[in-house]
This record gives sequence, C-alpha cells and structure tokens, in this order.
Amino acid sequence: MTLRRGALAAAALLLCGCTSFTDTVAEPETGTAPGTPPAATPSDDAGAAEDEDRCPAERAAPDPARPVVDLDFRLSTDLRTVTGTETVVFTPDTATDELVFRLVPNGPTAAGLGNRLTVDDVRGDDVDQAGYEDAGAEGPGGLYVLQLDGELAAGESTEVELDFTLSLGQGGFERFGTAEGTAWWASGFPLLAWEPGVGWARDPFVGILGETATSPVADTTVTVDVPEDLTVLTTGAQEEPSAAEDGRRTWTSREPVARDVSVAVGPFRTAGLTTAGGVEITTGVLDGAAVGPGELADWTADAVTGLADRFGAFPYDTLTVPLLPVEGGGIEYPSSILMAGADRSVLEHEVAHMWFYGMVGGSQFRDPWLDEAFATYAEAVDDQASREVLDRALAVSGDVGASMGEFGGTDEYFAAVYGKGAAALLAARDAAGAGPFDAALRCYVQRNAWAIATPDDVAAALADLPAARDVLVAAGALDEDDTD
Ligand SMILES: [Zn+2]
Repeated sequence: MTLRRGALAAAALLLCGCTSFTDTVAEPETGTAPGTPPAATPSDDAGAAEDEDRCPAERAAPDPARPVVDLDFRLSTDLRTVTGTETVVFTPDTATDELVFRLVPNGPTAAGLGNRLTVDDVRGDDVDQAGYEDAGAEGPGGLYVLQLDGELAAGESTEVELDFTLSLGQGGFERFGTAEGTAWWASGFPLLAWEPGVGWARDPFVGILGETATSPVADTTVTVDVPEDLTVLTTGAQEEPSAAEDGRRTWTSREPVARDVSVAVGPFRTAGLTTAGGVEITTGVLDGAAVGPGELADWTADAVTGLADRFGAFPYDTLTVPLLPVEGGGIEYPSSILMAGADRSVLEHEVAHMWFYGMVGGSQFRDPWLDEAFATYAEAVDDQASREVLDRALAVSGDVGASMGEFGGTDEYFAAVYGKGAAALLAARDAAGAGPFDAALRCYVQRNAWAIATPDDVAAALADLPAARDVLVAAGALDEDDTD
C-alpha cells in the first residue's frame, strides 16, 4: 500500500527533489544490458549451474500442489454485510496437524472503522476442533485455527469449508468499507496463513498502517452475488455476470496464482484495454470521479508496460483497478488494486507490487521492505531526486529490514521502510552500476516468482555485486552474514 501524499516524510522527499538523481548515477562499469544475466564461463560447468540457479532462464513456476481456494461471497442489499463460504484444499510441503487462517478485518486499524470477520461454521473430514486465537487483534480474534484429528504429512491433502460473516465498517482508507453506494473488501475472508517451507504465520497484528499477512499463492475462484444494478471488480479474470434473478447477479472470476483477493462493488463506469504485452486492464470509476475510466486505464497500461520493461513480463493476465469513493492512497492485491484517490505515482507504486508482493511474495510482518521498499524504488527510480535528498532519506534512523513489530508508529515505519528502503536500493544501484543491478534484480524476480522470498534471496541475487550489498547492509536491510 502507499499513502497519497508520498510515503510521509522521507519517501515524499525522494519524489520531489530539484535535480535529477539519475544524473548523478555513474555509468555501469560493464556493458551488460539490463535484463542480461551475468555471463558464465562456458567451460565452468559448476559455475554455469550456479548461475542458472541464481538466474534461471525461465521464470519459476508456481507450486503445482499449491492450495485451491474457492470463495463464494454474497453482499447484502444494504451493502453492509458479506456472508460467504470458503473451500480450501490444502497440501502442506511439511507436516502439520492444523490449519491457520488470518482474520485481517479484525486487525486494530480495520476493526477501529467497524469492520469485523467471524467464522460461523467449519466442515472437513479431518477437522477435530476449531477456535480463535487473539494475535493482537480485536473482536473475536486475529487468527482462526482448525485442529486436525491427526498429522497431515507433506504432500497429503485435506479439504475444509468455512462459513463466515464480514461486517463492513464506515468507508475510509482501508481494505474494507462501504460508502456512497459502493462496498469493498479485500482480505475479507479467512486467509490461509501458510509460508511454504516454514509453516504457519501467526504474526501479531500491529497498530500502524500496513500489512502483516503472509500467504501462499493459491488457485483461486471467486463468485460474488450482488444487487443487479452494481458492477463487481475483483482479483482474477472476470466472466460476464449471470443474468439477473430476483434482483441479483453473480460475478465469477479466476486467478490461478492469487495470494489474496480483493473485491469492489458499486455503480462503476468501466473501461477496458489490452496492453501491447497482452495484459487485460479493467478500470472502474464512480460518477464525479476526478478521472475517467479510460484515462485511468491509460495510466495503468503505461505503468504496466514501463515496469515490465524493467522487471520482466507482467505477472498476471489481467489487472483490475477500481477507484473508490474515499481518499488516501492505494492498496495492492493480486491482479487488482484498490485506488483511494486518482494519483499516478500511487498507481505506479501499486502496479510495482504486482511483481513485489503479488509474484515475489514476502512475509509482510517479518520483511515488509521486500515489498514496500521495492515498490517505492520502482516508483522512484526514474524520478527526480537529488543526492542531498537521497542522503537525507538514507540518514533516517531505523533499519530498513526491521519487522512490523519494531516500529513505534506509522511515520517511523514509512520513513525507514519506504523512504530509506527505496533510497538504499537506489544507492545500491548507483554503487553497482545500473546495468548489472537491474539485471540482478530481474534474476531475483525470475528465481523467486510465486514463492515467499527472504532477505537471503536478495543477498544471493547481489552476490556478484558486493558494492550494492554493502549499501543494503549499511542501511540495515541485509545482515552482514546474509550471503549466498
Ligand atoms: Zn506499497
């Protein structure tokens, strides 16, 4: 996510410098073109294998045994309540005897606006008992845990079904709300909190503005049943809605690699276009919006195309961008972005999250910089920021690599993770040379696609660029011993 008026102090400074930061960037030391992996010596088989591991020619494929999630939402006529059923087929890669779901609407900031998620019923042949865990959230709790009647071995599957009710609070800059005939909810269901190779993410909620979830990509189907006069814009490729029946229509979408799902429902005027790279963009705005749907689609297409040139092909077939009737910034979801205000730089930041969060996942609690510093860097790299501005952002106290539990407040978090984090990545690029750094970053994306990356993966990608790694160590993004 990001805030509309820049990421508060430091990130805002990065974007409003007077002279061009790129003017101060040294020419790359080698002639390596962006996107070209470091060359291997043909006779060195071990070296070639290592390079192929670090920079695979093909983007990593999603786990074929990833979860299969079906979400069935029904929005009440007064737009205040969503009832739903979630079906999950889960196949762990390490043994476990439970399933843990994160109830994001019950986090302190969302709950403070009146949002609440309850689980009403659970079904599943392997389920023994179920209940809430607190995790620093409000209402019934922040986690919902299904205890299985035995251990589920790696590679063994179980299917569970959860009925839930989501109450939508007053509209604000949040991932849930209702305002002006419009309703939206993202992470508005029990979110499977599995980190492949690690286990369940039970991280506490925090009082600052930002995400704390970790979730695997899942083969996801979404149906949304709404009053017939409203349009639905969601994560995933959307089909035409069903014919109206009893004053309602059902909208269906599918995204085979969604970590999470966003839904917006309202009297949207929509526009669609397909980019040169084949990405289908759909935007929606309400009457009186500051931008038309066609212009918003053009902005989105520009961001998609520009960022694909830098980081590799856009991760999804589709991208949906509803402009909500609230102000504040933007919130990223897989193949969908909730925009709160018509702001191009916010939009570019959120589009960058499709690579850094959507495709290359991270623990948003443990390593928030892996998505936020990278998305801010993506948004800022072509912008005008002077050396002085960059140095000021880098001088901010606090480690770029700190967890969400280590910040005293939202300002401190934004200054360290967004502002200092982006500045550190820019300085690392300066130190290594733009060509080699951009190539290394593309390798990082390629290798960690559809997985949950860690700072070690960043360090591994920069193994041949010690000057860049030193900058990130100095900024507290990487540890001294984060080496390949
Ligand atoms: Zn962000």
